[in-house]
Amino acid sequence: MPPVSSSRALAFALCALAACSKPPAQRAPVETGSLPDIVLVTIDSLRPDHLGCYGYPAPTSYNIDTLAAAGVRCELALSTTSWTLPSHAALFTGLYDSTHGLVTNGLRLSPKLETLAECLKERGYRTAGFFGGPYLHPAYGLAQGFDTWESCMSPATEELVVKGDLGGEAAHEDVTGPRTVKAVERFLEKSDNRPLFLFVHLFDVHYDYNPPREDVLPFDRDYTGDTNFSHLDSNPSIAKDMPARDRQHLVALYDGEIHFTDRNLAQILSNLSAQRTDRGRLLVITGDHGEEFFEHGNKGHQSSLYDELVRIPLIFNWPGHLQKDTLIRDQVRIIDIMPTLLAVAGVEQPPRMQGRNLWPLLTGKPLPEAPALLELLVDQNDVRGVRYPESKIISWRGKYDQTFGFHLVRDRGEGRTFDLSQDWVVKGKQELQRLVDENAALRKELRAEPEPLDLSPELDWRLHQYGYTEGKESKPK
Ligand SMILES: [Zn+2]
Repeated sequence: MPPVSSSRALAFALCALAACSKPPAQRAPVETGSLPDIVLVTIDSLRPDHLGCYGYPAPTSYNIDTLAAAGVRCELALSTTSWTLPSHAALFTGLYDSTHGLVTNGLRLSPKLETLAECLKERGYRTAGFFGGPYLHPAYGLAQGFDTWESCMSPATEELVVKGDLGGEAAHEDVTGPRTVKAVERFLEKSDNRPLFLFVHLFDVHYDYNPPREDVLPFDRDYTGDTNFSHLDSNPSIAKDMPARDRQHLVALYDGEIHFTDRNLAQILSNLSAQRTDRGRLLVITGDHGEEFFEHGNKGHQSSLYDELVRIPLIFNWPGHLQKDTLIRDQVRIIDIMPTLLAVAGVEQPPRMQGRNLWPLLTGKPLPEAPALLELLVDQNDVRGVRYPESKIISWRGKYDQTFGFHLVRDRGEGRTFDLSQDWVVKGKQELQRLVDENAALRKELRAEPEPLDLSPELDWRLHQYGYTEGKESKPK
């Protein structure tokens, strides 16, 4: 049961279920005494099936597994897409990608959209975010609502980013985990007794895979090859037809990054436990998208919407409030996280949010099945899909102009498309169109189009952070 009164929690849960659309003026008065700290962690590019608690046989994730065993693990959680920027926008707004509109480079989130951090801040939370990857740079608008928003990229990477290399290439070799641990630690030493909403983006699992050697050894002790695994994006040695032993080592490096990140996360949580003793803590661990190792011919991510790219981990840990060892098998979505956290904090969710409050599921009550819309609209892609627990439709336009129907029980690897005239495929295609149309209508209604990316105020702010110039005193809005 949430720390807000049970009747209020129930009211909010029911409100969310009924797609409540009361205006923000109806919000509860601020009574923050019993609110828990909320800690939301995204681990970039983390495939759930490479975590022990999701069945991976190698020991990648001792600490995450322990947290999952002490809480609730969602077996089937989905992002909205297969890359960082839109999925984080979906996480922070509870909206699908084609509704919030942040689907390609060169755009920033509309300040008119209400974010998770803004809602919690209004509720009385102190809001702080720490990030390790370039798409979380404030230029993209995802810092909206955070009192503190700190980059944990290296100064060298940062310099490239502020010069306009916001696409990410500069950051791939950066090792940001230890810097993130330190930044959060410094922040916590100065934290006050207000409830805290802490967001942490751990970036190291994202390629390039260059973990410390000690973190790779558990996964590949005897590799003697001399293949260069850097610059994954452009490295011709990392290809579908690479030698099997090299490919095995590539995956071991990825697993090593997970092991490394799991250790860094444990340190952050240990610091939190030491510094934040007055309140309970709801911890949510999730990801932004997956990663592929040539299952469908490609490497990295951002190329398609197959399960290895859109499934994410989702773990809720809140001792005393959520039962340990709980497994949720229902399909849930990244857009459901914001409404769930708002319900926990006793905040009425903004009207027209597309995610739903998962609190009933987390506490053993059923919710109706909900389809998940998947979209990849960057780099001339026009790929959309709808996923159900047992099937998926993917519709490619442009490059392939083809629709696929996958039966995920008979064909978990999405290897062959089914006859498109079958009933479930026809219904899936109709549902996909319905969801796309619904997003277009809602986007029109919200009148919150993304804005063109403008580096100048952020450049000024960031240079000031490093003492290079007379920049602005405050963080850009
Ligand atoms: Zn990402």
